[in-house]
Amino acid sequence: MTDGPIPVVDKCEEWDGPVPEPTGLTAEFWSETANGRFLVQQCPNCDHQQFYPRIVCTNCGREEPDWTDTSGDGEIYSFTICYTAREEAFQKLTPYVVAIVELEDGPQLTALVPADPDEITIGTPVEMRLWQVDDDAALPVFYPV
Ligand SMILES: [Zn+2]
Repeated sequence: MTDGPIPVVDKCEEWDGPVPEPTGLTAEFWSETANGRFLVQQCPNCDHQQFYPRIVCTNCGREEPDWTDTSGDGEIYSFTICYTAREEAFQKLTPYVVAIVELEDGPQLTALVPADPDEITIGTPVEMRLWQVDDDAALPVFYPV
C-alpha cells in the first residue's frame, strides 16, 4: 500500500519521448500528476471508477463524474515486450515492457514498466511512479514491488 503522494521522478532532462498536451477534461488530471496525485473519475451515482477522463460515467451515463485519488498500487493484467520501436526515443529502451495495469481501485491503464522483462508476469504486483517529463505533466509508470 502506498500512503500519501505518489513519488514524482524528475525526467525532464533525459526524456525525449512524447509529452502530453493537456486539454479540456485532461488539464486537471495532468496538472495533478505533477503534484504526485493520480486521479481517476468516480461516479457519485453508481460508484463506478473509470480512467481515462470522460464527460459521462461509462456505467450509468451520469454526467460530470467526480475525481478521486488512487494509491497507484495494482497488478499486471496483461503485458507485451517490445523489441522494436518506431519512435527514436523508445529505441534506446528496447526491449521494454508495456503493460495493462489493473489498479487496486478498479480502473485499468496502459503504461510503461521500466523493469527487466523477466521480472514481469500476469499478476505481478506493481506500484506507480510519476515521471515528470515537462512542467505540466508527469507520466505514470509502474515498477514491480
Ligand atoms: Zn455511474
